[in-house]
Amino acid sequence: MINVAIDGPAGAGKSTIAKAASKKLGFIYVDTGALYRAIALNAVRNGVLHDDVKLIKMLDDTTVSLAFDENGSQCVILNGEDVSALIRTPEISMGASKVSSVPAVRAFLLELQREIARKNNVIMDGRDIGSVVLPNADVKIFLTASPECRAERRYKELIEKGEKVTFEEVLADVNQRDYQDSHREIAPMKPCEDSVLADTSSLTLEESIELIIKIVKGEK
Ligand code: C5P
Repeated sequence: MINVAIDGPAGAGKSTIAKAASKKLGFIYVDTGALYRAIALNAVRNGVLHDDVKLIKMLDDTTVSLAFDENGSQCVILNGEDVSALIRTPEISMGASKVSSVPAVRAFLLELQREIARKNNVIMDGRDIGSVVLPNADVKIFLTASPECRAERRYKELIEKGEKVTFEEVLADVNQRDYQDSHREIAPMKPCEDSVLADTSSLTLEESIELIIKIVKGEK
């Protein structure tokens, strides 16, 4: 199996780029952020987001899995319910960043991610895929863009979805999540020694996809 790890900060376009590149390569695209989002949703529903002891206890009664349709599109299943659409809100983004700093949550999701990579050719995107989840990945990419660029893209996405946010709020969220994700004690987000750095700040979506495909094919 061919395993490609793509890590990088929120809003770098990882999911859009990785999804399109996976399609062109015939690989399965695995968005691991969705797993942390599902845990966050469950925590919000149970009122335990800010209580680590109860959060960890909640995991005993939590099942999370990923399903893929024939187009390779991913659905996230939380306790038997497809929550794919419910996890894409700013509240759950921040909640995911919170629960992801709890070691028991990361341990809970680790084997699931490895299992998918063992059985499929994957492009897996997250924060710690190259460093922790798939340290032996065939290709490791750290995909990034400037904070302003990332906030601008996320702002447009949210406005299109009808969310009421300002650019300043989105930029503040991006900076806060970057800080939390790169300063946490466990599996902090950072490029691996053997990852290829891809900065998409000045690239179009098409150019970014081409760049990723070239890196996967070893042409870059
Ligand atoms: O990628 P996405 O924005 O959906 O991720 C949501 C949050 O989940 C991130 O801010 C990060 O805290 C966490 N995450 C993580 N490790 C991953 C994927 C996501 O810690 N592999």
